[in-house]
Amino acid sequence: MPKYKTSEQVLSLMKDRTRVRNIGIIAHVDHGKTTTSDQLLAASGIISPKVAGEALALDYLSVEQQRGITVKAANVSLYHEVDGKGYVINLIDTPGHVDFSGRVTRSLRVLDGSIVVVDSVEGVMTQTETVLRQSLEERVRPILFINKVDRLVKELKLGPQEMMQKLLDIIKEVNNLINIYAEPELKEKWSINPSLGNVVFGSAKDRWGFSIPMAQKKGINMKHVIDAYSTTDKSKVNELAAQVPINEALLDAVIKFVPNPIEAQKYRIPKIWKGDLDNELAKSMLNADPNGPVVMMITDMKVDPHAGLVATGRVFSGTIRPGTEVWLVNAKAPQKVLQVSIYMGQFRELADEIPAGNIAAVLGLERARSGETLIDVRFKDLQGSFEKLHYVSEPVVTIA
Ligand code: GDP
Repeated sequence: MPKYKTSEQVLSLMKDRTRVRNIGIIAHVDHGKTTTSDQLLAASGIISPKVAGEALALDYLSVEQQRGITVKAANVSLYHEVDGKGYVINLIDTPGHVDFSGRVTRSLRVLDGSIVVVDSVEGVMTQTETVLRQSLEERVRPILFINKVDRLVKELKLGPQEMMQKLLDIIKEVNNLINIYAEPELKEKWSINPSLGNVVFGSAKDRWGFSIPMAQKKGINMKHVIDAYSTTDKSKVNELAAQVPINEALLDAVIKFVPNPIEAQKYRIPKIWKGDLDNELAKSMLNADPNGPVVMMITDMKVDPHAGLVATGRVFSGTIRPGTEVWLVNAKAPQKVLQVSIYMGQFRELADEIPAGNIAAVLGLERARSGETLIDVRFKDLQGSFEKLHYVSEPVVTIA
């Protein structure tokens, strides 16, 4: 059952920043990205006051209602505890599966980690390779979720040994890709190792999942999985979901293996910032300094029927507040921030300020487009952006 958090509690974790993780889910089409996001949201632990009215009246109903909601928000903020400590996990929407417009790469820029979902029967497919390569190129650290393990029992009727072999083959393939596409100094550190806990086996649809350390701690093994699916009685599968909930398995792994924004920005900014690294802006981003000039990258623009255009993105430096004056690098225009909000579950709640390292939703940036870089207007002459700047010379039209 989710624990209810207030926006003050969420904001205070966001200010700490060692308690923040920014992640996305990437997958080949149909491998279970949507189902996995929905399950994480259903167990999110952050319920917006917008739905809390009903939630307080009838907890269970609210959770079931949330479960029925497919995540369409630009970002969903989740709450999870490990060893008694609370964390905010921003799950940022990455568009579609294969996308040639560069939108995938754009959204990868605001993530520090990714959950790579692979269907256990289909294994690594072309789009798995494409998105994994793209994320490694952006220095986004992967963890692996081998999904649809139920199919190995129900459809392929594998025994425990054969199941383990099939799963190990997938891990090997993913590690081969990491070995090919990760930068030399990251290859070893980022290769996945089931015994460490950065691989989760499970079924998003049936809401169970475990890493090897979690399975050992809870006394679960593949035989339990086979038993659960060897009967038509659904109660064994539900028991598994109660013993090893998928959200616990995935979010434990995220918190342990995905770096917090302070650690991540040190090595990610040199990769994703197209501009000088030696000026005040870049230095502040490298330190994820909440007291530095504001720099933010917008990854999503959506129209809210009540609020108007909502720009969602990551604050890489400074603290964004209502009234902050920013320069839109692509639009080459100044604009003033009217409102800032955080995500509570999939809903937005107003906030006074949002510091570097976090995801913010901003109102008032009518001229921004997805991919836009915002910088503190006082620093507008320092060239730099999260996307390559294209200087297009105007064609000269001569009229005879
Ligand atoms: P996406 O295209 O990656 O977002 O995939 P979806 O989450 O939409 O899932 C694709 C299909 O796989 C849907 O029909 C899901 O119900 C199904 N699916 C998702 N997770 C599981 C699972 O754990 N086991 C099985 N058997 N099917 C699943």
